[in-house]
Amino acid sequence: MPEILPLKDAKDRAGVRSLTACALCGGPRHALPTLGPPSILSDGRIDSRPLRKASCLSCGSSSHAASTVQQVVRASYDRSYDLGIAQDPSAETRGSAYGSAILAALGSDMPKSVLDVGCGSGSLLNSLARHLPGGRLVGVEAATQLAAAASRRGLTIIESFAEDLPLPSKPFDLVCSVNVIEHTHDPAKFLWSLSRQATEDGYVAVVCPRADRPNLELVFQDHIFGLTHQALLRLGQDVGLTLIRYSPTPEEDGDFQLCLFSRKSNGAIQPSLTVDPSSMHRNRVAYLREWQKLDNFLMSQIDGNPLPCFGAGEVAALMRAYAPRAWSYVAELLVDDPATAWRLDRSARVYKRPDAPSPLLIAVHPSRQRMVANRVEGDDYRAICWPDTLGR
Ligand SMILES: [Zn+2]
Repeated sequence: MPEILPLKDAKDRAGVRSLTACALCGGPRHALPTLGPPSILSDGRIDSRPLRKASCLSCGSSSHAASTVQQVVRASYDRSYDLGIAQDPSAETRGSAYGSAILAALGSDMPKSVLDVGCGSGSLLNSLARHLPGGRLVGVEAATQLAAAASRRGLTIIESFAEDLPLPSKPFDLVCSVNVIEHTHDPAKFLWSLSRQATEDGYVAVVCPRADRPNLELVFQDHIFGLTHQALLRLGQDVGLTLIRYSPTPEEDGDFQLCLFSRKSNGAIQPSLTVDPSSMHRNRVAYLREWQKLDNFLMSQIDGNPLPCFGAGEVAALMRAYAPRAWSYVAELLVDDPATAWRLDRSARVYKRPDAPSPLLIAVHPSRQRMVANRVEGDDYRAICWPDTLGR
């Protein structure tokens, strides 16, 4: 595990945590319940810091309670960062779904050149290549392992952070970025960096986790910001981009949102999600309190003997970080395809029926736990699911 530098913490005066203003809109922020230490990065690595976030009561966005330092943020994407490097068919499916959604948002204005910033191992570019034969497609990726994996697929890759890219000799019709902006130290600078890679009448498409309702995305340490529609609209305005389309992505692709910005000014759409920032904050507080209780809840269901766990991906990694006592009872991970298993500190093997009725921890996405429970209970397991209040 790489050394993670400590963050400069928020000032603590007379026991009251005073928070700096929202970096996105200057609004006041309230602290959210703390998780850990430890916490978790989005590729499953354990982070020694606690998770301390806050809500903005003006734009509704979530953010780290303490101000973040760019070098600390960038340190997460060193040689060991490998989210999405496993040959996971679901990553390809998601890349394909994002590609279709972005092209659908563009309507008939099909791009001839695309730059994908934070392209990972290239699933989105691969999908776009099928839709745009003969197009000029280039990826940008800062994490060395992922850049190498994308290059091996025959894609043209620049290994860089967005903010370090030089001005392009040939700008792109479309610059897209999927699930990157929430990781950045300065979302406005990041968005500006995307914009300057696009042609004067080009587009910038950004996909990122929804922040208007709490979900798993809130509990990752390397998600520095949870951006609301209102914040994205404002960020665009700050860097000369007009938000022309906005939509949540289909539920089956997760809790994400797609923003299409234009460099030409042709009328911003009005906010379509008008959730009150105070209620967003209250919902996040309730959600994180449920996370604080998860370990005790699971321990109350475990009979004190080692047991298997169904799932070996993101949710198993979350359980390892935030329900460490329950995790200590996990003997092995059961999955339908062990090739998709994350490198957690347990072995993964193909799911099979038990020899005798036995308990089984469920560690798949909370919204699918009941469905998996129904399946394994037909096989003589007693499924231990998370509370329904963690359903997203
Ligand atoms: Zn704000």
